[in-house]
Amino acid sequence: MEVKKEVFGHLNSQTVSRYIITTDDMRFSFIDYGAALQKIEMPDRQGHLDDVIISFDTLKDYINNSTYAGLCIGRVGGRIANASFKLADQSYQLERNMGSHHMHGGKNGLSHHLFETEIIENANQQEIALKMITELKSEEDGYPGNMKVQITHTIKSDNTWTIHYFAVTDQETLFNPTNHTYFNLNGGKSDVTDHLLSLESASFLETDDEQIPTGDLIAVEGDMDYRQSKPVQLGLDTAFRLTGDPCKKRIKLLHEASGRQIKIQTDAPYAVVYSAEGMDFTDSSGHYFGSGAGIALETQSMPDAVHHPELDDIRLKKTETFQTATSYHFSVLS
Ligand code: BGC
Repeated sequence: MEVKKEVFGHLNSQTVSRYIITTDDMRFSFIDYGAALQKIEMPDRQGHLDDVIISFDTLKDYINNSTYAGLCIGRVGGRIANASFKLADQSYQLERNMGSHHMHGGKNGLSHHLFETEIIENANQQEIALKMITELKSEEDGYPGNMKVQITHTIKSDNTWTIHYFAVTDQETLFNPTNHTYFNLNGGKSDVTDHLLSLESASFLETDDEQIPTGDLIAVEGDMDYRQSKPVQLGLDTAFRLTGDPCKKRIKLLHEASGRQIKIQTDAPYAVVYSAEGMDFTDSSGHYFGSGAGIALETQSMPDAVHHPELDDIRLKKTETFQTATSYHFSVLS
């Protein structure tokens, strides 16, 4: 395995770097802006390499990115209804960046931070990690608490990518980060409706017509039942509550024709599955990403949990250390 660091772009006077980690047969690229996964080059059955995520070649597409492709998002992934909440008897008003609601942490959230990055290579060359650190300031982004956040991306020689989040705060706050990579295991040559998805989930969150959870969980059935693998449908923008053993791989995505598959293990209680219906984005190199161009599998706690304390709890206290991890194992069927 090896890692190479190069210049990806500039943000004001600062350099944004790209880190390219190579295993025997795959290449994973990250940037320190938004702690983003920028590209994954993966072979198919014939050994032909394709980029299997939605990726952009220039920094400005990550900065002006309504899709959030590849970026880590937070403090809180998903919507916060009416961009407001109460915590410890105090009311907080956040940026309204999605109609009257707040989404994905806002313009000062993790997706807009340049992280300080350290490369950690282990002695036996079986894994390489990128330790990315930033600070969130309460007075900048409207949430209480100054936070120190560490996101570590680790690549193992067996083609497992693990993303590990750690955080501490100096005052009680909310924290529910995730990563917003969109996968397309066919290298973008078709939309994701030719992928098979399986999910260990028996229920999902009902939402209103502005995608705000109502607080009801609906049992999966018919089209929404992914317990047996089946083709991805457009129109998924759904928080599935995961069941089963967090030490097992509970989410699988397979593209049969190329043989490429991902098996995901997470300690998070939900997977927000977003199949990007209606995506309509042209990047600055002229590359067009249309409806269903990728599928995001966002492992996290419940969206809008602060308004449904009976269902989940995303409060982080001053005395606690936040930790969560998700691993993605990439393999090719023979
Ligand atoms: C949300 C979608 C949103 C998309 C892009 C997903 O996490 O669930 O509603 O359109 O992100 O921002």
